[in-house]
Amino acid sequence: MKKSIRDIDPTHMKVLVRADFNVPLDQGKVSDDTRIRMTLPTLQHLLEHKALVVCCSHLGRPKGKVDEALRLNPVADRLSELLKTPVKKVDDCVGPEVEQAVEALKPGEVLLLENLRFHPEEKANDQGFAQKLAGLAELYVNDAFAAAHRAHASTEGVAHHLPAVAGLLMEQEIEALKRVLDNPRKPFVVILGGAKISDKIGVIERFLEMGDSILIGGGMANTLMKAKDFEIGQSLVEDESLDQARSLLEKAGEKMLLPDHLVVAEAFDPQARRKTVSVGEVPPEWRIMDIGPNTVRRFTEKLDTAKTVVWNGPLGVTEMSDFAEGTNQIARILARLDAVTIVGGGDSVAAVNQAGVADQMTHVSTGGGAFLNFMEAKTLPGVAVLKDA
Ligand code: ADP
Ligand code: MG
Repeated sequence: MKKSIRDIDPTHMKVLVRADFNVPLDQGKVSDDTRIRMTLPTLQHLLEHKALVVCCSHLGRPKGKVDEALRLNPVADRLSELLKTPVKKVDDCVGPEVEQAVEALKPGEVLLLENLRFHPEEKANDQGFAQKLAGLAELYVNDAFAAAHRAHASTEGVAHHLPAVAGLLMEQEIEALKRVLDNPRKPFVVILGGAKISDKIGVIERFLEMGDSILIGGGMANTLMKAKDFEIGQSLVEDESLDQARSLLEKAGEKMLLPDHLVVAEAFDPQARRKTVSVGEVPPEWRIMDIGPNTVRRFTEKLDTAKTVVWNGPLGVTEMSDFAEGTNQIARILARLDAVTIVGGGDSVAAVNQAGVADQMTHVSTGGGAFLNFMEAKTLPGVAVLKDA
């Protein structure tokens, strides 16, 4: 277990909090504040202890230079509303202006630093840059689970220069995911989807060892179907992964369930003509967009017996409502199961929210890459570097 802010007394301490405020913006406003809300318990805990709170985050991909559209000012505004307290904001994350602002901070006040990725040193995990960040505080708190698979200056480097502990969100993520991996109640059923199989070979292999059944849909199933010599028409496919797909199929045997019934469309378009077909009957000019009702039924039979379910990756093109039905139905099945249910991945979580059942899951992870790496039992640099309890 990792030490968290509950294991120490942060009273009147100067605390650097690495949060994940990588939120979507629309016309200079935060259009979805979920990620900000997730870090509120940590910030509120620190403020109750009259800590001096310095928050930092990345936002988008500014490529190591200032990008006016990716300043954190909208985050400061929203954070201030949610905390019901003023949030000060500076226009850089290191340097004299920042140091002065930190000096001026009083107990129970919050300062938000500028987008860390305006500096190329952030992603490079530059030691000097990490030291400058560390110099701003007496304690480092990492609450950015979703960024913990990256060894960047603010997620890893800084922790070598300050006492480093987990925030409450980080702690909750680690505990929830660890519980599943260490001792999953059986049967353990895994659902995998999403665009590409090449992103997720490692996860599939890991779950072939741990899981009792793996249900596969989404774009990644296309490569597996092609590897079984089924016609997939114009569907998204990764030909370079066909050999790996064949070896996975061989290893998996009965454990892996592929779609046997599909929704296909004439074009990759929300308005496209569509129909349902059995596997092997995809017309050469059409493409697979979703799992069909018979597949949902077959998957549901497996899910009904499950005591643990882990899900990553939509089972269809959920951005287009006509092709979100399979994913929606599976989300609603999970919601009514008497099982531990864990969902992770940006698009998967969006789909579960869309279906209105997020609060009926045991745990909805904020991680995408971090979630997958954790599931693969890879070391997350941002977690490894925190103090052990
Ligand atoms: P997550 O963000 O949950 O990890 P991914 O990013 O791996 O999930 O996958 C989500 C993407 O997969 C979506 O953009 C969705 O459109 C795409 N996808 C799912 N099924 C298909 C399909 N049959 N054809 C093409 N793309 C698909
Ligand atoms: Mg995604």
